[in-house]
Amino acid sequence: MKTFYIALGGNLGDVPAAFHSARKAITALASTRLMASSRCYRTPPIGPEGQPDYYNAIITINSALEPLVLLNELQNIENQHGRLRIEHWGARTLDLDIIAIDKQTITLPRLTIPHPLMQQRQFVLRPLCDIHPNWHHPLLNQTASTLLANLLIVEKPLKRGLIW
Ligand code: ATP
Ligand code: MG
Ligand code: MG
Repeated sequence: MKTFYIALGGNLGDVPAAFHSARKAITALASTRLMASSRCYRTPPIGPEGQPDYYNAIITINSALEPLVLLNELQNIENQHGRLRIEHWGARTLDLDIIAIDKQTITLPRLTIPHPLMQQRQFVLRPLCDIHPNWHHPLLNQTASTLLANLLIVEKPLKRGLIW
């Protein structure tokens, strides 16, 4: 069993409904149990201009699935929620990224763990700190709360967005 940290994001359609049903679908995967859910946040978009604000959250699961099997399952769930890949970082109904797996590192063409941009993203670190502030980045050698504090020196804190 490993602990997987999964980031949920979305800014098109009924995102609160997509978060609820994605969390349910993830929890229903074989040999998988939901451990924690962060609060939800509203986040200004990165990438192409003119997009609506995002909702973002993090959940943790304990799962016996192999990382690439879980990635396939998450991509299936994204597709079931109408995810289209039209432009890089474009607006989307649902994005499910694996942020971390315990303190493991993985470098494969389809999967980089920890997620390579997590330390730049308050929309990942803020919800991660709600549930696992002491998670330790195995390459940067810093905790989630230290990484978030670094960003908050120059960035405004995120607004909450109630979903669960
Ligand atoms: P970003 O990775 O910057 O958040 P994105 O989530 O918009 O961008 P996607 O279009 O969802 O990017 O995914 C592109 C590819 O990223 C996927 O096909 C997947 O193979 C790869 N990938 C690499 N590492 C990860 C990871 N840790 N979690 C999810 N996908 C990953
Ligand atoms: Mg993403
Ligand atoms: Mg993604």
